[in-house]
Amino acid sequence: MNRELEKLISLHDLDVMISDLVNKDISKQEKKLGLSPDVALSQLQKMREELVATIDRRHREMYDRLAKHYGNAVVPVVNRRCSGCFTKLPTAMMSSSSGKDVVTTCPTCGRFIYQCD
Ligand SMILES: [Zn+2]
Repeated sequence: MNRELEKLISLHDLDVMISDLVNKDISKQEKKLGLSPDVALSQLQKMREELVATIDRRHREMYDRLAKHYGNAVVPVVNRRCSGCFTKLPTAMMSSSSGKDVVTTCPTCGRFIYQCD
């Protein structure tokens, strides 16, 4: 898989964990993580900063815009459909993007998309 896309997926995962810590029952999270939620949160935010620094500025801005708009900026393609907006993606698009050093976005909703198989 494309390196840049892997980073965007990791960024998305970190954002999910961060928002979980911020929004959900803190005491439950505390038990699960085995450490103070404040510590976990600052660790995650530090990791996010480090990761963001390695991502292309253009992609970072796109990610931020998409995350703000949709909540999820990176989604898997399932059965050739974008799992963000459920649009069926052209076959040519999927085959031409694989292996190349490009980050693919859904032509309909604009989210970053990746093949999960
Ligand atoms: Zn889409």
